[in-house]
Amino acid sequence: MSQRRILLSSPHMGGTERKYVQEAFNTNWIAPLGENVNIFEDQIKEFTGSKAACALASGTGGIHLALDLLKVEQGDLVLCSSLTFVASANPILYRGGTPVFIDSEMDSWNMCPKALEKALKYYRMQGKQPKAVIVVNLYGQSARMDEISEICRRYGVPIVEDAAESLGAIYKGRMSGTFGKFGIFSFNGNKIITTSGGGMIVSNDEVLIEEALKKATQSKEPAAHYQHESVGYNYRLSNVCAGIGRGQMEVLETRIQQKRNIFDKYVAGLDDMNGIEFMPEIEGSYHTRWLSTMLIDPKKLGISAKELIEYLGEHNIEARPVWKPLHLQPLFEGAAYFTMAKDNSKYLFEHGICLPSDTKMTDEEIDRVIELCRERILTHELFA
Ligand SMILES: *Cc1c(COP(=O)(O)O)cnc(C)c1O
Repeated sequence: MSQRRILLSSPHMGGTERKYVQEAFNTNWIAPLGENVNIFEDQIKEFTGSKAACALASGTGGIHLALDLLKVEQGDLVLCSSLTFVASANPILYRGGTPVFIDSEMDSWNMCPKALEKALKYYRMQGKQPKAVIVVNLYGQSARMDEISEICRRYGVPIVEDAAESLGAIYKGRMSGTFGKFGIFSFNGNKIITTSGGGMIVSNDEVLIEEALKKATQSKEPAAHYQHESVGYNYRLSNVCAGIGRGQMEVLETRIQQKRNIFDKYVAGLDDMNGIEFMPEIEGSYHTRWLSTMLIDPKKLGISAKELIEYLGEHNIEARPVWKPLHLQPLFEGAAYFTMAKDNSKYLFEHGICLPSDTKMTDEEIDRVIELCRERILTHELFA
């Protein structure tokens, strides 16, 4: 196997990152904070239109801080999208909260507003008030935030928007991550831009972000002798990593365009096949296509998603299933799950594929992925 491995999504530096990291070294602002952190926060504020931002060591830490600031305590209900990475819901457990999972809708693959309302109605009838709803924006697309916001407003439940995968996505003219009380971004290595590891919490409430900043730095009170009156964490982003983020922000728009081009190439190369369906871009939505994803109908194509993923793997190509829904994870066994007629997130997991979406892929490499998919599907009888 001589060809270079084709990856799902890997770090892609723009070129100026090194300069900003070097600046951190030159000024000895290696830690704790420094200019790169401030500028990186300003860039995110300017890009998203959010009033306040606090750079963090991870996106997971951002969700944890949001739940802490929303006063999620032992036994409190927190609603969360089921179809997502475990990091969306782990912080519920850190707080001792009780996770409740909500199904996806087939149109956006994100939280189904009807299933959300069903859950809120159910708990209202029981006299229970959930403390927060964590809405996840999958693979570069915003959830239906207008409907979800309206429902949450009616039930008086604040939204934490897990926008770890959707930096740069737009929904009805607004940037993803700015709809909730809090929005969270991730700069983990596989995300659309990376700081090697990092995150950001944003909000239009500047006071809340001040509190997030305090909690992220061990809840230090303003006194020379290290006074502490509440629990805190060590969650700030280092100035060295923020230098990487500062450079990455300069290429974010380019990366989004590249991701969308990769998706368009897959559509052009595979959409004629009866039984392949790409993740839709819902009306009013601008999808970044952080990952290009599609559904495989085994009845029409003669092969399953799993078989196609394995075949690509044999050819040194990284493809993955769609997230395993959290209500099916042993970690959350017994958690409540709200769905409408069908279990959509389970269906998306069983039939979905994340195709390689690495912005460093050449056109020839994308064509190779398409060719191998076609070959495996068209010759499926030979494998039977
Ligand atoms: C990556 C990711 C996170 C976690 O972000 P980290 O920076 O890795 O902690 C949270 N939610 C979703 C949906 C993610 O994809």
